[in-house]
Amino acid sequence: MALHPSVRMPTAHTIESLAYRSRFVDALPADPREDNQTRQVRGALYSRVTPTPVSGPKLLALVPEVCALLDLSPDPTPELVEALAGNRVISGMKPFSACYGGHQFGNWANQLGDGRAITLAEVENSRGERWEVQLKGAGRTPYSRGADGRAVLRSSLRELVCSEAMHHLGVPTTRALSLVLTGDKVERDMFYDGNPEREPGAITARVAPSFVRFGNFELPAYRGEHGDGGTLDKLLRYTTECFYPEFAKCTDDDLAGLFRVISDRTTDMVVHWLRVGFVHGVMNTDNMSILGLTIDYGPYGWLDVFDPGWTPNTTDAQGRRYRFGNQPRIAHWNLAQLGNAFAQRMRDFSGLQATIDQWPERFGAKHRAMMLAKLGLTEQHTDEDSALIEALLSTITSVEVDPTLFYRALATLDSDPSTLWPAHRAKIEHALYEPAALDNERIAQPFRGWIERYLARARDEGLSDTARAERMNAHNPVYIPRNYLVQQTVEKVAAGDTAALDELLSVIRDPYNAQPGREAYAAKRPEWARTKAGCSMLSCSS
Ligand code: AMP
Ligand code: MG
Repeated sequence: MALHPSVRMPTAHTIESLAYRSRFVDALPADPREDNQTRQVRGALYSRVTPTPVSGPKLLALVPEVCALLDLSPDPTPELVEALAGNRVISGMKPFSACYGGHQFGNWANQLGDGRAITLAEVENSRGERWEVQLKGAGRTPYSRGADGRAVLRSSLRELVCSEAMHHLGVPTTRALSLVLTGDKVERDMFYDGNPEREPGAITARVAPSFVRFGNFELPAYRGEHGDGGTLDKLLRYTTECFYPEFAKCTDDDLAGLFRVISDRTTDMVVHWLRVGFVHGVMNTDNMSILGLTIDYGPYGWLDVFDPGWTPNTTDAQGRRYRFGNQPRIAHWNLAQLGNAFAQRMRDFSGLQATIDQWPERFGAKHRAMMLAKLGLTEQHTDEDSALIEALLSTITSVEVDPTLFYRALATLDSDPSTLWPAHRAKIEHALYEPAALDNERIAQPFRGWIERYLARARDEGLSDTARAERMNAHNPVYIPRNYLVQQTVEKVAAGDTAALDELLSVIRDPYNAQPGREAYAAKRPEWARTKAGCSMLSCSS
């Protein structure tokens, strides 16, 4: 079919011919120094820095959909690889690292900043969209403190795969453009146990409309830089003008409205995490995006077993502050910290307070709606819904259940009242790590009871099994980047098998449809991965 002459394909640019913009740099106050020595940066929102060159860049992945977002040709030219490795700054780019603070594990940590992230530029595409392109692991910046500004292959590959998987799962997230091996080794003490290893270094290029975090607002607020025309004021004006123009006058009402939208976006993001079984692992306020995007993939993990108390982050093993089931409460707490920063620019913060106060109810409604969608139900019966959901979650916590397999299995149940338990059991038991546990009546009873109650509800709603399954399968993925699959891919790529990465990226592109021949990617965690490092336990130090 010929294209209509007025429909023009976007021009595929080279890295040298893209249209670069730098609104952050142009609009906001800069640190006067441009070297990368560690320092406190006051009265400024970023430092100009240059990536530190690496010895032998090798491109491992270039994500074509993200190239398309930028109008960038996916042809891996030497110039492109050099730019993605930080070896070459293209004319028009104004690289910088942002200055921000944050609350880490509940405590105010003061200045943090982009210690290993350097934004190269914003790219304006032919649709008028602007995308910031940022290198992670491109060398030291004024915010690196004692660290090296580098990233290792395992953590960079994990970020690439997970951010793309999240996008295809429909979860708001930053994107990943590329993964480059640097050719240099990086020393890491993975478990902080005094046994550092030299690991291959890598750089991910990530892409988002903005990487501004809650912590970018908190730092000037804490430092008292909150007067008219001060850094906090300037950052609020920049953020609203670029991303929330309806609030650009920054009146008290505007800031309360802005806060409400950020609160809703953050809540929606966390509700998606609960839907797909994602645990971020480090929900510090410096890792919370002002656009409600999942950002800073570190020691994240996916629920192999439905356990609200699970955290993948060994650094958080004691308090388990960032465990799966605590993520909503932490989002609320983090929003309150952002609210405190905004309040420095407001006289009347009743609107802001109302958002904080109403949050539990708003989250509850969003969570209920999400769970009903996972169950394929369409009507709201508030109290009954909450009881049904609670009973489900407690049932699947009672033994080891793979939640991903379980929800897909629920979609195959036959709601005809004549269908008996053995038929239902046969459909769901593969989602249990020990299917034989269902021989025990004490364990089987809650499953049987809940399924009967659920199917009765589906019948009451007059839903056909096909319609219910269709709705459920659009909310319950078949494929998630399971912890052990990603770890296996890391090991294969480290051994030179880059096809393994291409295959995994291809699987996660279509997560809601079963892909014949790729059943292994939907399998529950094998026993060997239960306690293996990288599969179930990770630290912040990567
Ligand atoms: P995170 O919580 O992992 O996102 O990082 C917390 C802070 O540590 C941020 O300011 C990071 O930029 C910084 N950081 C983490 N790893 C490194 C590294 N290898 N080099 C320099 N800074 C780092
Ligand atoms: Mg971070």
